[in-house]
Order: sequence, then C-alpha cells, then structure tokens
Amino acid sequence: MEVKEISERIKRLQEEKDAIILAHYYTRPEVQDVAGYLGDSLGLSRMAARASARVIVFCGVHFMAETASIISPDKKVLIPARDAGCSLSESVTGADLAAWKAAHPGGIVVCYVNTSADVKSNADYCCTSSNATRVVESLPAGRPVLFVPDKNLGAYINKVTGRDMELWHGDCCVHERLPAPVLLERLDEYPGAIALVHPEANGSHDDRVLHHPRVVIASTAGMIDHARRSTCRQYIVATELETIHELAKSCPGKTFIPALRSTICGQMKKITIERVLDALEKEQFEVKVADEIREKARVPIQRMLDVK
Ligand code: SF4
Repeated sequence: MEVKEISERIKRLQEEKDAIILAHYYTRPEVQDVAGYLGDSLGLSRMAARASARVIVFCGVHFMAETASIISPDKKVLIPARDAGCSLSESVTGADLAAWKAAHPGGIVVCYVNTSADVKSNADYCCTSSNATRVVESLPAGRPVLFVPDKNLGAYINKVTGRDMELWHGDCCVHERLPAPVLLERLDEYPGAIALVHPEANGSHDDRVLHHPRVVIASTAGMIDHARRSTCRQYIVATELETIHELAKSCPGKTFIPALRSTICGQMKKITIERVLDALEKEQFEVKVADEIREKARVPIQRMLDVK
C-alpha cells in the first residue's frame, strides 16, 4: 500500500476509534504528517493530559507512552513499536536511583522525563528540556539536588542556574555526537547562520558554545519557536535530524543545515507508518503502568506540568 493510502486509512480509523495520534518531532516525516498533535516531550505530556479521545496512539519511544499512561490511566495508550527504547532512559533504573538517593540523604531528586516509570516513582520532580531550568530554579536554595540521567542537560542547567547539582552520568547516544568542536566548526563554516543547539548535545554546556553570540540553546519546541520569530534566514540544527521536517514546514524560505547528518535516533524510526496503521487496526501494543508505581510517578510528573 502507498503511504498516501495508509495515511488516509489512519485518518479514517482515528475518527472511527475515537483515537488521537501524538507524535514526537523525531519520528519519520510521514508519521509526523498524520499526527493529531506533534510536539516535544513537554507538549506531548500536556496533550496526553488534555486529550479527550478514548485511545492515544503514541508515536515516540517507550518512556513517553508510559508517561502518557501515567497521566491518563483511563485511556488506552498504544505504542506502534513495542521495542522503541531510549539509551538515555535505559542508563538508570529505579534501583540505581534508590541507591543514589540513600547515599545523598536530604537531596531533592529531579529526573528528566526520559526515564522509566520506575525511576520517576523514586523522584521528587520531573522535567523536560523545555522547562528544566524553571523546575530547578523553583527548588529551595541550599538543598542538595540530584539530577538524573542526562549529564549534558544537567551540566547545562548547572551553568545557567548557578546550582551545583550532582549529575548522573547518562547520555543520549544521538546528542552525544555533538561535541563543542563540531558545533564551532559548523558556526565557522556558516558565518551568517544561527545554531539551534539542544541542551542534551554534548557541547551545549561548553563555554565557547554557551556564550557564542550566534548560539541559541533550546528544546525542540523552543528551536521551532525561535526560528519562526527570528529574522535570520539560515540555521544550523544541532539535534535529531528529523526536527528539520517541522522547522522547514513552519518557516518557509529559511534554510536549515544539520550540524551532523548522523544525528538519527534509530529507536524513533521504529515507528513506521505501517506500524501506526497496525496499532490502530489491532489496538496494539498497549502500555500500562502498575498502579503502585503509577501513583508515585504521577507526583513528580504533575509537578512538572504545573511549572509554567
Ligand atoms: S534521541 Fe536520544 S533521548 Fe531521544 S529517544 Fe532517541 S536515544 Fe532517547
């Protein structure tokens, strides 16, 4: 079947089944194009909380579908590829975090949304790259803060807030490919361009990047927002490659250059348009979180959603 025909069947089935498709910016362009809502982790979490549909088809990786299920336990949350994981999320377990907390009594735990439900159930606050700085700034001064799992995002927040959080040493295998020398080289190559850099990028917290006059550090949604509003015509994009699909659609006439062509998240690409159709037709694969973990994990997620 052609992509166009599959997309039309998906659109019809969404209505028939009272379903909404939520898709992350890192999914394949044809998947993004059938989404009822396209967003980054924070936007998708908010939409999962607001959606009135009976079924949510979550086009993203497993921890994202889990988060949607925690927020909306009365809805059927489906993930089209059951094995879509995340290197960052897998770098820490609930047991790891419990042991780390025990070694730092009195510490406040902030966990990035890229974590399992089990990890979230051991955390005090959750955050995404869109609101991480605001979440950390809202914490009482003088208390130690433990940040899991992304060392790059954590180091970036430490730099911009002046906090000295303890950092877990996890990373995203895609954004880890973007160290400062790569970003600086690209800036030299394109002297008229602004570089949009995700805070998970390895080079985001390097002073040469952080204080560069042509660098904007932002979440995926923040990058799109910046490119829409700015008068600059050319951008270097330092995040997952597929983000350029929405950037180009949102900003006609502007040019987007990947900082590195290999920044591709293979896990997100497991969500194919055929699998989205299968998920809707067969109502598979349902993601559910055990009640005991869900109730505990809901608390830090709600705190994240409450931070403006
Ligand atoms: S891009 Fe990185 S953080 Fe995002 S899902 Fe893929 S591996 Fe995880």
